[in-house]
Amino acid sequence: MTSSTDSLARELGCIACGATYAPGYRLECDACGGLLELRYDLDTLRARGPALLTGAGFWRYAPVLPIADPAHRVSLGEGATPLLECPRLARHLGVRRLLVKFEGSNPTGTVKDRTSATAVAAALQFGFGATSVVSTGNAGSSIAAYSARAGLRSFVFAYERASAPKLLHMSATASDLILYKGVYDDLIGLWDRLVEERLFFDCGATRNPYKHEGKKTLAYEIAEQTGWRTPDVVVAPVAVGEVFVATARGFREMQAAGWIPAAPRMVAAQAARANPVVRAFRSGAALAPVKIGYTVAEGLAAGDPGRKGEWVLRLLREGKGLAGDAEDDEILEAQRTLARTEGVWAGPTGVATLAVLAKLLAAGALDPAQTIAVIVTETGLKTEAALPSRAGTAFDEASLRRLVVERLRTA
Ligand SMILES: *Cc1c(COP(=O)(O)O)cnc(C)c1O
Ligand SMILES: [Zn+2]
Repeated sequence: MTSSTDSLARELGCIACGATYAPGYRLECDACGGLLELRYDLDTLRARGPALLTGAGFWRYAPVLPIADPAHRVSLGEGATPLLECPRLARHLGVRRLLVKFEGSNPTGTVKDRTSATAVAAALQFGFGATSVVSTGNAGSSIAAYSARAGLRSFVFAYERASAPKLLHMSATASDLILYKGVYDDLIGLWDRLVEERLFFDCGATRNPYKHEGKKTLAYEIAEQTGWRTPDVVVAPVAVGEVFVATARGFREMQAAGWIPAAPRMVAAQAARANPVVRAFRSGAALAPVKIGYTVAEGLAAGDPGRKGEWVLRLLREGKGLAGDAEDDEILEAQRTLARTEGVWAGPTGVATLAVLAKLLAAGALDPAQTIAVIVTETGLKTEAALPSRAGTAFDEASLRRLVVERLRTA
């Protein structure tokens, strides 16, 4: 009998041509260059049911993750993030039931820790001594932290204009932090060649199927936290598409295994200033890169999500999904609303989903009688923004009492 700590990963399958491979070190399809996905022993998943999951935390989902040897399963306590019932925010938005999956409580403050856990574990599994990523900040700090935890070198190539909290974090955890000029696209082609020479393990978002897989645990946690009665709708952000694709795949996998009756309807959320997937979805056309400028949702600034973006579109079209975008001021408004109504402090990238949901509800594009879950992907504590005024007041007892009493009288 399968032990509950065994991985049930059985093969890598090409999503473009259908070729299959044993689950070894492979980043894309030999036959056609297509993206690969991991496939699992569905018969065992079906036969054993959710009782297969044991233990706590992220590696509770080890049977549906591709890391065979428990010794390689690196952890900083990622996952097991709260799924918060948000009645005040629900009332504010006019929806019956709203759940926020808050990823800001991960060890480095973002959803990236889920993929860093499986990426760095895979680097150990395939015998690499170093990892690498090209990043605007969140991925860099996360991969650096997990690499340090695993005793691996990390070559973190970070955008020179990354926020101060992110740079501080990366310089503390990365073995080798290298700042680059220009934009991500200028460097990534050159970096890919070093991956091919196996100088380091690819911890980027574009093609590594092992890294990608960690974010699937989002779907498993949401299902488990709702007692296997999944929400009707799940809103997920899209930059390159890892969160979206992995979450959608997780729900489909559970449905195929008979763990949940139906997969939720997926909504893809983008920043209006970086919205290639939303444009293609609306027009029905193929995905075309868009030239992007600055958006406060820094982690969503991907103008050319490439093949993973096409995968997002395919899942949206097959699953009767929906896509929407939000302007920067709407995103900042959602950030304040979430903080005030529910006490959740998230960064702008993290609340783009909420801003998009508010717009879709206002436009009547979603049924407000449904249960809706929104993935909020980062803490607000890593954001760099202008501080509110620092001018303080000197009080005596009378003036202090007067201030509080007067304020309490106002609504
Ligand atoms: C990277 C990131 C995302 C989404 O990225 P994908 O490439 O689409 O997976 C969302 N939110 C935050 C905070 C991120 O750092
Ligand atoms: Zn192929």
